[in-house]
Amino acid sequence: AAGLPERWVRTTCPYCGTGCEMEVGVKGGRITEARPVFASPVSRGHLCVKGRYGWGFSDAPDRITEPLIRRNGVWEPATWDEALAAAASALQQARRAGGPSAVGVLASSRSTNEENYLTQKFARLALGTNNVDCCARVCHAPSAAGLGQTFGTGAATNSYADIERAGLLMVVGANPTENHPIVGARIRQRARAGVPLIVIDPRRTELADLATIHLAPRPGTNLPLLQAMASLILGEGLTDPAFLAARTEGLEAYAASLREWTPERVGALCGIEPEAIRRAARLYATTGPAMIFHGLGVTEQRQGTDGVAALAHLALLTGNVGIPGAGVNPLRGQNNVQGSAQMGCEPSRLTGYQKLAQSREIHAQVWGAELPEEPGLNALEMIDAAGEGRLKALLVIGYDPLLSHPGARETAENLNGLEALIVVDLFLTETAKAFGTVFLPAASPFEKEGTYMNGERRVQRVRQVVPPKGGSRTDMAILAALAERLGAGQPFRHPDAAAVWDEARQVWPAIAGISHGRLDQEGGLQWPCPAEDHPGTPVLHAGGFPGGRAAFRPLGWTPSLEVTNGEFPFLLNTGRSLFHFNAATMTGRTRNRELRADDELELHPDDAAELGLSAGDPVHVQSRHGAFTLRTRPTDRVRRGEPFATFHAVAAYVNLATGPGRDTVTGTPEYKVTAVNLRAT
Ligand code: SF4
Repeated sequence: AAGLPERWVRTTCPYCGTGCEMEVGVKGGRITEARPVFASPVSRGHLCVKGRYGWGFSDAPDRITEPLIRRNGVWEPATWDEALAAAASALQQARRAGGPSAVGVLASSRSTNEENYLTQKFARLALGTNNVDCCARVCHAPSAAGLGQTFGTGAATNSYADIERAGLLMVVGANPTENHPIVGARIRQRARAGVPLIVIDPRRTELADLATIHLAPRPGTNLPLLQAMASLILGEGLTDPAFLAARTEGLEAYAASLREWTPERVGALCGIEPEAIRRAARLYATTGPAMIFHGLGVTEQRQGTDGVAALAHLALLTGNVGIPGAGVNPLRGQNNVQGSAQMGCEPSRLTGYQKLAQSREIHAQVWGAELPEEPGLNALEMIDAAGEGRLKALLVIGYDPLLSHPGARETAENLNGLEALIVVDLFLTETAKAFGTVFLPAASPFEKEGTYMNGERRVQRVRQVVPPKGGSRTDMAILAALAERLGAGQPFRHPDAAAVWDEARQVWPAIAGISHGRLDQEGGLQWPCPAEDHPGTPVLHAGGFPGGRAAFRPLGWTPSLEVTNGEFPFLLNTGRSLFHFNAATMTGRTRNRELRADDELELHPDDAAELGLSAGDPVHVQSRHGAFTLRTRPTDRVRRGEPFATFHAVAAYVNLATGPGRDTVTGTPEYKVTAVNLRAT
């Protein structure tokens, strides 16, 4: 038939961290459709609405496919030679004026592993700075930190296949039905089959409707709730003493720190019946193996890292680590959030999330050059430094800080302090439009070779479906060309993405056994996979923890600074919808726009009635930091006083109102808690 594709190319979905494999159909040199892969162990013949219909951005009419230079405030077309020369010269000038710490690089969790590996190498070798970070900073950095502190490895302990092995599932601060739909469907199937399900979420999500127990804590009170559950498990002797004695340390001090967290005190703080906390703790501790999934409702909090550690502590107390169907498993938002920081786009970590001080030497040996010693600035600190004049030039790859960072007004003021902002992307992002000086058009996820790493540590192939559109180039080609112009070209002369990956295998032993060739033959492999004959590792810590023992630590409570009062009586929560992905840079340019065109503010019907708001009415949302306007969606899925906004559309610009609160360990923004006022407009 006339409409059928001429060929199909197997690759990995460019959206969430589930990592569904897909086949992309091509006709006349253009992508025409996508279909699921039945043999994929992750997606098993399914794709959600984003994977299935969200590929059209690649051919969007406003895609930029030739380089641009801003001259006298206006973007003008340029040749690659001119644009690369302008970018290199700006970076050199900034370094001359302020030293290597005056330049920085922001990488993307949607770039491939190979691109992220090269990006950190570019920052460290070509620019001489550890000022390199990725957008994991604004989502799952606390997962890596909290799991790393406790277990010694900052990655998901188990596999999606364990959903079918778990005796109990606990989903905390995550809405996989909308944000990781294929994982969400597997969890729903198990709950419908009678597997006990605990959901901890301020909203009554679709998954909460199926839960055995749904705990809805006030935004910002995760930590006390998890501490109360741990306290009860210890107090009632529901722990696994043999596991605790053989495999953990620090229990005594941790146990002492829990005594203050009684169900009564915590119930009052969280707005939950104390008896419900008791029932949840008992159910979790006595129905094994118990598998925890968590999302940004845990990490995007003032105590994001401690929240993740509190979950890890629950798993340790009950011996739910190192066995199938258990563990603590971050639901990674972007397709390669696990891979971006893991490939070294982190200011104090190198490839494999290895500490800078510990792995500088092996990197220097393989790279043939010394690396800077001092840890760099994280993504938010870089923007702060731009405002203070300490950072003069920024290279931004596949990341839109102006749209995605909290406190958009302050972000804009800070970005305005930069002398040069070089953007590598598919579109003129909000950051590029407002502050870009050079634009280098990048290849889309369907136009390059490489790998992604999904939320269960599975490395999977990304394959070129069509060539880079127009004059766009892969990040690999762009970084290599920029490095040449900066006089550091030699370490970037890789013949292809497989060669880049092979170099990464030399500096990170956990992936030494994974080659592109093996992935092509066998399909995705989960690290650690230290040798070519190793089958990969579906369950971490089965044989022990990297440091010998897992570490408990006392977790104090640092409440959010976002407090309600007469002027700001509501606590705003933010999140995503099924049809769109993050800032909708990609899905907003596809047919998914027809399925959901606008963002909405979910508001309890009683709150809506008091404010005189009906469905569809515009509501002005004002915080201490800024304001935005959305359409009202009355629903009893949110509690009174706790509205919820999606943040996909540029027009809504929800981050005008989010505040400066950050996780005390990683600096991840507190997107989930903002005190606001609402009024009809
Ligand atoms: Fe893509 Fe995630 Fe949907 Fe799978 S669940 S198709 S990876 S967006």
